[in-house]
Amino acid sequence: MDAGAAILAIDQGTTSSRAIVFSLDGKVVALAQREFAQIYPRPGWVEHDPEEIWQSTRAVMDEALTLARAEGWQVLCAGITNQRETTILWDRATGQPIHNAIVWQDRRTANDCARLVEAGHEAMVQARTGLVLDPYFSATKIAWILDHVPGARGRAEEGELAFGTVESFLLWRLSGGTVHLSDATNASRTALFNIHTGQWDEDLLALFNVPAALLPAVCANAGLFGHIAPGLPGAGLPVTGMAGDQQAAAIGQAAYAPGASKCTFGTGAFLLANTGQKAVRSKHRLLSTIAWQLEGVHAYALEGSILSAGSTIQWLRDGLGLIGDARESEALARSVDDTGGVYLVPAFAGLGAPWWDADARGAILGLTRGSTSAQIVRAGLESVAYSCADLLGAMAADGVDLATMKVDGGMSCNDWLMHFLAGIINMPVERPAITETTAFGAAALAGIGARLYDGLGDIARIWKREAHFAPDMDEAVRTALLDGWRSALARVRTR
Ligand code: ADP
Repeated sequence: MDAGAAILAIDQGTTSSRAIVFSLDGKVVALAQREFAQIYPRPGWVEHDPEEIWQSTRAVMDEALTLARAEGWQVLCAGITNQRETTILWDRATGQPIHNAIVWQDRRTANDCARLVEAGHEAMVQARTGLVLDPYFSATKIAWILDHVPGARGRAEEGELAFGTVESFLLWRLSGGTVHLSDATNASRTALFNIHTGQWDEDLLALFNVPAALLPAVCANAGLFGHIAPGLPGAGLPVTGMAGDQQAAAIGQAAYAPGASKCTFGTGAFLLANTGQKAVRSKHRLLSTIAWQLEGVHAYALEGSILSAGSTIQWLRDGLGLIGDARESEALARSVDDTGGVYLVPAFAGLGAPWWDADARGAILGLTRGSTSAQIVRAGLESVAYSCADLLGAMAADGVDLATMKVDGGMSCNDWLMHFLAGIINMPVERPAITETTAFGAAALAGIGARLYDGLGDIARIWKREAHFAPDMDEAVRTALLDGWRSALARVRTR
């Protein structure tokens, strides 16, 4: 029985590890998923146990490969995509981590970042890395581990320790401890990597006090990274693609032309806009990042994140009990003509780009005695579209005008919201047939690296639209809605 050639995508996310086997035309032929523990040692701190990351990844690889092979699929190569910025340090001799992984959400180095900003270093960091000086990124997390694990700094300087973001740690383990590599998209989230030269930056290493001996070599996103070691699931398979999750989603969404964008609507929302071979220096606190590196060429993207998207709907469900299930939000939104002037500003954890206002808190404004729960739910959905409009406004102010928006993630299945979004941003919104875009992006890169595909053009031909939402909102309505949103925002912002 031969079902055909297939590719294994390993998708190591923040709350779960997944493995998906794709046929070459992009169909999911097997999928396995395993959640793992979130560790909160103190308020604002978030850790993962690297062994659990590894064991859950191994288990889902085994399960997905067994399912696919039982149906006759010939898995030819593997790709990795991962939660970005999360930081792991391990002993090169034993492969043992010296501390839990410090997760991207972890804020423990906020004071270190504030000191560096006060000392006037932010402009240099932004110019070289495209990032803002924030605990989000790996550099200050690495230094924290070196300064808090006894003996670690000395051992790092002696070359005994290795640093990696999650793709790099997984590749190390998958290769039986023989390969220490990262890729350009993941490296560009460390705050140590110069996105213009494509090299680790000595001045940044000195500024953040990170020894060069810790670092992996950085490769393009497709090519031969190594082979899976004997005794592991998929033993012998070449690993031929790697990229951070949001960049992998942009690849899986075939957002290849300058002006193309993708937005992933999950718990939060991440918008990546392709800026071609030019890294745009944002004046509006958006991030400039490597979208991919293939055949020696870097493509760049502007990135903006919305902290509360799907989580707003979760709060309407669990906090207010206005809905029993996220999907009910759609029918409720349709059941009213408008919100009657109600706005929900979902600043539960502060405001993300372009405001970066950590102290702002959420609010529901414009209530009258006639306000209904349907209007409040609708206001919650609308807030996601307004937040996207704010990101697009910041991008436009940075000189980046978008042509299309492709959407994915759990919330993108809400047709009412996608149509409203198209109206508010006045741009067509397209939803693909392949909804597993992040994992598919990893598979696409692996397929390119293994020469099963010729290049991104082949992936663009596989990408199929499932739904198209046309912008048909009246100009006056859009302006009035956005004006209302801006006054609501002004009442919660603290700076
Ligand atoms: P993550 O990867 O961040 O866990 P998902 O992509 O799985 O997120 O999306 C889940 C989120 O989408 C949840 O926060 C949920 O509230 C929201 N969601 C799911 N379906 C809908 C829907 N039909 N309308 C609005 N929100 C939805």
